Amino acid sequence: MDFDLTPEQQQIRDVAREFARAELGDRIAPFDERHEFPHEIVTKLGPLGFLGALVGEEFGGAGLDYVSYALIVEELCRGDASIGITMWAHNSLCTDHIATFGSSEQKRKYLPPLASGQVLGAWGLTEPGSGSDAAALATRAELRDGEWVLNGSKAFITNASVASTVVVMARTGPERRSKGISTFILEKGMPGFSSGKPYRKLGLHASNTAELILEGARVPEANLLGERGTGFEQAMKVLEGGRIAMAAMGVGIAQAAVDQAVKYMKQRTAFGKTLAEFNGLQGMIADLATEVEVARLLTLRAAYLKDTGRPAMHAAAMAKLFASEAAMKAATKAVQIHGGAGYITEFPVERIFRDAKLTEIGEGTSEIQRMLIAREILQLT
Ligand SMILES: Cc1cc2nc3c(=O)[nH]c(=O)nc-3n(C[C@H](O)[C@H](O)[C@H](O)COP(=O)(O)OP(=O)(O)OC[C@H]3O[C@@H](n4cnc5c(N)ncnc54)[C@H](O)[C@@H]3O)c2cc1C
Repeated sequence: MDFDLTPEQQQIRDVAREFARAELGDRIAPFDERHEFPHEIVTKLGPLGFLGALVGEEFGGAGLDYVSYALIVEELCRGDASIGITMWAHNSLCTDHIATFGSSEQKRKYLPPLASGQVLGAWGLTEPGSGSDAAALATRAELRDGEWVLNGSKAFITNASVASTVVVMARTGPERRSKGISTFILEKGMPGFSSGKPYRKLGLHASNTAELILEGARVPEANLLGERGTGFEQAMKVLEGGRIAMAAMGVGIAQAAVDQAVKYMKQRTAFGKTLAEFNGLQGMIADLATEVEVARLLTLRAAYLKDTGRPAMHAAAMAKLFASEAAMKAATKAVQIHGGAGYITEFPVERIFRDAKLTEIGEGTSEIQRMLIAREILQLT
């Protein structure tokens, strides 16, 4: 068994780490405070190849493996999770869906501008009436005079207002549940397609999350993505990779919490000692650092399985479940280690605490991951 990253993987991780050090951290705090999307920072991800991480070189992407991609997501989220989730939704969901299931013409048309960062991508599965129970989605698409006409809405969509290329799932047949769902590529500017006002959120304030509104949205027939009726299976496959990236997001946030706790423990004194000298806090930091390492190993293993073409759904669910709960726990304990300072916005740990919660909700909640893991172990369908 080889636990070493390849020289290329190490190099990519180092580039992402340096970018996060130079561009994120304290610099993102004003955007977070203003609930503002940091266009100028996101623009810088394109030239680094991070917005085409999973796209083949023939379409202008970096053609990276999933381990490298997970390392980038981890490092960006260690710097700031709003940037991390922006990059995750663009790559794991929108771009990877087109790269995996698109026709040659669709790939030629949509991947190069996504990969270069000329446009951002979003992906809409969740609806106001269906989240965990994705097969209950109600948005409908009907073929009329050579065009698909979509009616419905999508809720909580990352990058909804800043993306130009959007992949959405809609019902195209009378079949119930997961049957009869198809996928479409939409472009901003198509008649009847718009986004709502960005939500005010608990955390990830510098990321964009909004509703997608489909009011008789007219989409060319050629923008059906993959075969009609296979949209649900496609979405589940996309979520496999998405969960690995969400696990990496959890690792990055957990590591950021530990980084901040360590820094504070060394500088703050009480009872004539630094906090680092208190046994109780040493035990806390040792537990947290161990859990971050377990989360990282689970995440990179799931990424490795995906890279080697083996089933990764079960490993992705385990990694996502563990890493997201490790992130929430590390953030909670890091606030505790800061005492009152952890409760005010001056210290980054307050933002990290708010951001961490999303990892237990997005890409399937912890309850859904447990359900998937249990079904696999118990061999239930
Ligand atoms: C910031 C943010 C960004 C997001 N980005 C995207 C995006 O880009 N694209 C997209 O499509 N979606 C996105 N989502 C949506 C996200 O994937 C859903 O919120 C998530 O899947 C949960 O669905 P829900 O909110 O409808 O909760 P519900 O499904 O209503 O769940 C409510 C509660 O019930 C529990 N529950 C539900 N079913 C079961 C069960 N069978 N057993 C046990 N417990 C259960 C859940 O775990 C949860 O605790 C985003 C959400 C947020 C908050």
